[in-house]
Amino acid sequence: MQTKDRKKLSRIRQSLIELAQEVQELMPVFAERSPFMKGTVYEQNRKCGKPNCHCASGEGHSSMVLSRSEEGRTKLSVIPSGHLKDYQVLTERYQRFRRARARLGQIYKTMISLIDQLEESRRREN
Ligand SMILES: [Zn+2]
Repeated sequence: MQTKDRKKLSRIRQSLIELAQEVQELMPVFAERSPFMKGTVYEQNRKCGKPNCHCASGEGHSSMVLSRSEEGRTKLSVIPSGHLKDYQVLTERYQRFRRARARLGQIYKTMISLIDQLEESRRREN
């Protein structure tokens, strides 16, 4: 086998080890038991439509809302006062979980492709 190929295969093995380590690092995110909430929290500014309201000329009414997608539609709900911090913590936890899940998918896809290359390199025809 040529040196170039050997170097390439050695890089592939190293990448596999690194990816497996990354999977290990993701595991605590999946092992957690604390609850989370789907959606994102943001501030919404709306004009109420009453012609004499201050919002007609200036800034709209501000409220903190939870936005989430349900069956392909975006649902908004106003966050009850005093619950903003809770909602932020819960939704951030969910986003972290989903990011980790997506990353795990990418990692496994990459690992399989690297493993296929190793398989190719080790195969002997009889
Ligand atoms: Zn108004």
